[in-house]
Amino acid sequence: MTQVYNRVALIGLGLIASSMAHAMRAKGLAGEIVGHAKSAETRATALEIGICDQVFATAAEAVAGADLVVLAVPVGAMAEIAAEIGPHLAEGATVTDVGSVKQAVIAAVAPHMPEGIHFIPGHPMAGTEYSGPRSGFATLFVNKWWLLTPASDADPVAVARLQQLLEGMQAKVNTMDAAHHDQVVAVVSHTPHLIAYTMVGVADHLAQVSNSEVIEYSASGFRDFTRIAASDPTMWRDVFLTNKDAVLDVLGRFAEELFVLQRAIRMGDGALLHDYFTRTRAIRRGIIEAGQDTSAPDFGRAPAAAKPDGRA
Ligand code: NAP
Repeated sequence: MTQVYNRVALIGLGLIASSMAHAMRAKGLAGEIVGHAKSAETRATALEIGICDQVFATAAEAVAGADLVVLAVPVGAMAEIAAEIGPHLAEGATVTDVGSVKQAVIAAVAPHMPEGIHFIPGHPMAGTEYSGPRSGFATLFVNKWWLLTPASDADPVAVARLQQLLEGMQAKVNTMDAAHHDQVVAVVSHTPHLIAYTMVGVADHLAQVSNSEVIEYSASGFRDFTRIAASDPTMWRDVFLTNKDAVLDVLGRFAEELFVLQRAIRMGDGALLHDYFTRTRAIRRGIIEAGQDTSAPDFGRAPAAAKPDGRA
């Protein structure tokens, strides 16, 4: 595989950045990988496990001389980082991000990008409930979508080069409008996470009534909710605060559907329930056919696919 960038600066060294580092190293896509994270502990870990050749105490120092800068911090931290790195970016560099929301990140970052810098927002549609530098692995993006939302006047050569890197990590790349992106992810990712958080919260209340039976017998559907609800609290707080309109729209529709099912249960309308569940089962089959999951039980997740790092 050919080298696509000479020096990649990863700002934020958690699950996504460390997975990118592993994948870039495995495929020889970057000459040098440097990084910055908020805490000295994370920076030391990044050196220890070899995801970075060098780490820097500030983002400004890390981006100097980089031809690709990846913003891999929680969405709420993007503006502060962009303001800091703006004056230190190398002429002609590409800046991308991996934030789960696109319109809010563009509003936070674009004003700080100087002339001659290619800002190409992005979002890998891949993740686990683990976080931190030790949680990454080289195959996280294999056969997963990586959505790019470049401005209409973005330089096609810079976009093609970034796409080459992402495809080198075996991701599938698509470009779309940022507003459309935010609506799509509200349906496929953000609202399902909120529902999982809610269901685990409900069970937590019940557990206090039923002496932890909810935890004891959680080997069924509830367990999958707990996996999703274990996702990083900072990341998800920022996602809901910044994709507010789209999430509220989907939640409204969800509540309507819930009432339809609630009424069917109350009225004993088995035909409605059966038809509904038949349609949803077909959607699951479609996801497997599209290669976005396997048909193995337990969400198709092999135990080794995700690595705990002990963080929240
Ligand atoms: P993570 O594992 O929690 O790591 C976040 C990293 O950002 C940590 O290294 C943290 O440093 C650093 N950081 C936080 N605030 C910072 C600041 N102000 N300055 C410098 N560094 C800072 O996060 P992640 O899961 O990789 O997520 C990163 C981004 O990817 C988020 O925007 C998220 O929306 C997006 N994303 C996540 C997933 C997923 O499933 N996790 C999927 C797609 C996209 P310390 O360790 O020192 O605190």
